[in-house]
Parts: sequence; C-alpha cells; structure tokens
Amino acid sequence: MMKAAVLTAYGEPLEIREVPSPEPGPGEVLVRVAGVGVCHSDLTVVSGRSNIIERLPAVLGHEIAGQVAGLGRGVTGLREGEAVAVFGAWGCGRCFYCLRGDEQACDQTRWVGHGPAGGYAEYLLVPAARHLEPVGDLDPAEAAALTDAGLTPYRAVRRALPRLTPGSTAVAIGIGGLGHFGLQYLKLLSTARVVAVDTSPPARRLAARLGADAVAGDAEEAVEAVSDLTGGGGADAVLDFVGSTATMELSVRVVGRFALIVNVGLGGGVLSYSPYGFPAEVDLTTAWWGGRSDLREVVALARENRLTPSLERYPLMDINEVLARLAAGEVEGRAVLLP
Ligand code: ZN
Ligand code: ZN
Repeated sequence: MMKAAVLTAYGEPLEIREVPSPEPGPGEVLVRVAGVGVCHSDLTVVSGRSNIIERLPAVLGHEIAGQVAGLGRGVTGLREGEAVAVFGAWGCGRCFYCLRGDEQACDQTRWVGHGPAGGYAEYLLVPAARHLEPVGDLDPAEAAALTDAGLTPYRAVRRALPRLTPGSTAVAIGIGGLGHFGLQYLKLLSTARVVAVDTSPPARRLAARLGADAVAGDAEEAVEAVSDLTGGGGADAVLDFVGSTATMELSVRVVGRFALIVNVGLGGGVLSYSPYGFPAEVDLTTAWWGGRSDLREVVALARENRLTPSLERYPLMDINEVLARLAAGEVEGRAVLLP
C-alpha cells in the first residue's frame, strides 16, 4: 500500500488515503516519487472548472521526479535507484509527432495526473522507459519543477529567440511557476532587455532578483516601461505566462511592429482580433508544453547550475494548504510536494 492524495469530488479537498501501490508490468517502470510540483492547472481541475481528467476518483500531479523503484520485464537502459524526471505526455510512440519527440502533440496522448494516476502519491507507474529522463544528482524538487514549470517556458523562449537580437526588448507577463523560469531563460539565452510584469509584490521582488531590467506592477506601468526601453517602438517579443484576457490585451499593447507574441499560460482568456488593433505584421503563436529534447536541455541547464528555481517545499499531507496558497497567489515560484 502507499499514501496518495485523492480527488474524490470536484470542489472538495483532496483526501490522503492508503491505496494499492502499483506493480510494473512488462515494459513499465515504477518510480518512487521524490518531488511533485503543484501546478496552477490543478486548481482548475480540483474546482471542476476544467473537465480534462478522465474519471474520478483521481490522483493528480503531473510534474514529477523520483527514483526508479522497479523495472517491468523487458525494460533496459535504466537501473533501480536511478534518479529520473518524468516527461508527462504519454503518446502512442509511433506517429509523426511522437517520432519527432513531441508526444505532447500526439492524438492519443494521455497526461500523467489527468487519466493515468499522477504524482500526488508515494509511487508512480510509468508505461514506458522513454518517458524518463535521467537527472543525476539534481535536487528532486528542482527536477520535478523542470518537467512543466521549467519545460513550457523553455519552449516558449526558444520560439522567441530569433527575434531577440542584440538591442532587443522582451516582455515576460506573470512571474510565477512558469514565468520565473521563463525570465531566467530570456536572460541566459538572449541579450534582450527584459521587462517583467506581475501584479503580486513577491513576484516582482523575485523578478528583480532574477535580473529583470525593468519590473512593472500593472498594465500602465508595463506600457510605460516598454515605451521607455524601446523609444516607443514596442517589444520584439512578448511572452504571456498567464493567458487571461487582460494579459492578452496587454501583450497587444506592448508588442512592436513585426514582433512576436507567445501565449503560454492557460488562463482561459480570449483575445479579439481586428487588423487595426494590432501593430503591423505581428506574429501570434502558442507554446504547447515542450518536447522530450526540450526537457533534456532544461535538465542540462539545471545540472550545470545555470538555473535558480524559487521552490517552496511541503510534505504530501499539506496538499490542500498548498492549493489554497496557490489560489491566493502566495506561492513564490513553484510549490513542490515531497511525498
Ligand atoms: Zn502544469
Ligand atoms: Zn503519437
């Protein structure tokens, strides 16, 4: 048996229960969960605002790292006790998207913690060894956070890099779990000046510590900061880690001509389009999680100590308090449970 935090009814607290510990079948791998990040999207699932999970009761948690605890028949290339991060989009493994490493875009993808039981538990069953990325002696809490909070903004920043030539300006909206990694990638991988925008004072302090060139607390301050840095021309790339209607509208206000907006956050916003409401030839795109090679690259950055994640650590028992802190905007960076 093992402990797990179980969602039994929408809108109710998760229940810590004893449930059967899974056994790895042929080709499967059992992972002892050492760290599992608490993602904003879990709030929308728990409250019932999102119906993306397959059934109740459910064990959520899609941002997971741990140690290999059992190998099913036929699994090679991993050893028991090895530290791994879990790539959480489990596709068919054979289609065009899976073959290019983008299982998150596969038609048949099942997301750990949304159908297959997730990481809010002591053990996790992983259906194939290819979903596991060795992380060496990386801190398990950091390794966990890399698989979503660290991965998705990496994909977004990579999409923006061709625009971020010397002298350019980028805007990062929302310096939370994802955005605080995104800001670091912008500073590490480009020479762009970065304007960080967040309404929460702790997030703005975090942005300043991480090297933001300007920090803004609301839309008006952001418009002014971008105008100052660009001589009124607008930003070369805007990364929206929130995705609310307000942040999408702000993206359009601060973006420059021929520039790029990357919508990352799943904040449920809607942006209305009119050719007169946008600067000339703006590209608007999305970043949909990240691929397996992206995960390998963020793990490499972390193992070289190039990242400074802001992590709050809690025992699994505290899951409901952590969800409440997240809902109240009190988490600085990412909250990670250590089951
Ligand atoms: Zn997530
Ligand atoms: Zn596929």
